[in-house]
Amino acid sequence: MSAPLSLHKDRLLPADPATRHIARDLYESVRDLPIISPHGHTDPSWFADDTPFADPAALFIIPDHYIFRMLYSQGVPLEDLGVPRIDGGPVETDPRRIWHLFAQNQHLLRGTPSRMWLDHAFHEILGVRERLCADNADRIYDHIAERLKSPEYRPRALYERFNIEVLATTEGALDDLRHHRKIAASGWEGRVITAFRPDGVTDPDAPGFRDDITELGRLTGQDTTSWRGYLAALADRRRYFIEYGGCTSTDHGHPTAHTQDLSETDAEALFARVLNGSTPQEAECFRGQMLTEMARMSLKDGLVMQIHPGARRGQNPYIQRTFGEAKGDDFPAPTDFVHDLKPLLNRFGNDRDLTIILFTLDETTYAREIAPLAGHYPALRIGPAWWFHDSPEGIMRFREQTTETGGFYNTVGFNDDTRAFFSVPARHDLCRRVDSAYLARLVAEHRLDLDEAFRVAADLSYHLAKAAYRL
Ligand SMILES: [Zn+2]
Repeated sequence: MSAPLSLHKDRLLPADPATRHIARDLYESVRDLPIISPHGHTDPSWFADDTPFADPAALFIIPDHYIFRMLYSQGVPLEDLGVPRIDGGPVETDPRRIWHLFAQNQHLLRGTPSRMWLDHAFHEILGVRERLCADNADRIYDHIAERLKSPEYRPRALYERFNIEVLATTEGALDDLRHHRKIAASGWEGRVITAFRPDGVTDPDAPGFRDDITELGRLTGQDTTSWRGYLAALADRRRYFIEYGGCTSTDHGHPTAHTQDLSETDAEALFARVLNGSTPQEAECFRGQMLTEMARMSLKDGLVMQIHPGARRGQNPYIQRTFGEAKGDDFPAPTDFVHDLKPLLNRFGNDRDLTIILFTLDETTYAREIAPLAGHYPALRIGPAWWFHDSPEGIMRFREQTTETGGFYNTVGFNDDTRAFFSVPARHDLCRRVDSAYLARLVAEHRLDLDEAFRVAADLSYHLAKAAYRL
């Protein structure tokens, strides 16, 4: 006999009855608000083609680095989980066997947000009513596979069922946005927009950097061997993203928050050097200069900037060699926002027409750097708890450490930042619950009136993201 799968209606709300009561009312008031998903990594082809999701393993396990990294850490080879090898070498291709292996190891996710997201997807979206284990793996596999074949489980139907008002994907600067154009031409009412991620052509350390700069020139008809032509080409791609992808934001995933504000002559000389191979210092300097250039362009075209610094990507050479990027071997690194952002802030920090949203993987910066900075500079906002910290404890720590200095209104609501479409409603629901729990404590301690808490709950769940991302 397998255990029943049930989701407690008060999950994640405070355990003490007085606070729980307030949190419950707050959560009820925001539970059904539409989802604004202004930053994420779902695949726009899902919504363009609206083809059914393949099978339970392809949906929940093979693409989800949160899940397979945990199994890998306990000795399960990634090949056995169907994660493709770069060399095309043999990996498990039978989705049912991959599912079984996952079911045998599901206990490894106990206490993690991945487990909560999965339970939410299984129970609320797929109607599973027993907890996954080795004994019922086949039965649950068949149940999910059957559902995925039906029209209600196609991407567009799910988008509507999830009550999504807008969903942003993320594309590189050279992307032709064919999926977004197809969505727009289809007459479907869902709003799937893109975000402009230029790292491939602004980071000299990005693989294929020089070839991509050449391609950037070809696409835009600009001379990208010159600094001016290169900048004009980037401005051109930004316009293309706005026009054909409904883009309202850029995203910059740099190793640090380093910025520069070089003279035009120095920037030109640096650009010439990085085109011919660069030292690590030159690459860092160039990335920093490009953040300032992007801020300058944002003041012209209105795109909101997101800076996602501090991930050391590809730490494990074996994983890099064998499976490639984003396979669970990326780690948080210390980040210094106050010092690193100063050149950019000296130039644009006081500009009320610019919005720069700062994310961090270094939680020590919430109270020491990010909240004080955003609590001063008009151009800065505090991005939500991200990646390793998009979790019940992480979101609570975020609120506890940013609110007193940054307030609620320098934050920008929630980002699910996910590749896993079925986790979108789960993640937003989790955040609404934790925010309600936090607000309930302020009310119970008589630090915030209840009517104000209701207003803040709605702002955190819906209005702030809409406003900050200009949606
Ligand atoms: Zn992201």
